[in-house]
Amino acid sequence: MDFVTSLNELSVRPSSHSNCCSFVRIFSQLSNDEAQALLSALDNPNVTSSGIARVLSDRGFRMTHVTVARHRRRGQGNGCICP
Ligand SMILES: [Zn+2]
Repeated sequence: MDFVTSLNELSVRPSSHSNCCSFVRIFSQLSNDEAQALLSALDNPNVTSSGIARVLSDRGFRMTHVTVARHRRRGQGNGCICP
């Protein structure tokens, strides 16, 4: 693959479905009450990312503290781009 084609490939990939992290899928499977509780935990600086990841894993969602931390930084340069 030549240089130009490789660079064009790079620009196509993000538009597929990697825009958001797995929290989008998790929120779609939670009840309103559960989603509210998760949101307030995410916004609470006293709640650790690994704590949230553990609770989510216990409930059957595959989640790491890295993903939780990245989602908490959403909108920033090094965070995910969830709404
Ligand atoms: Zn996210």
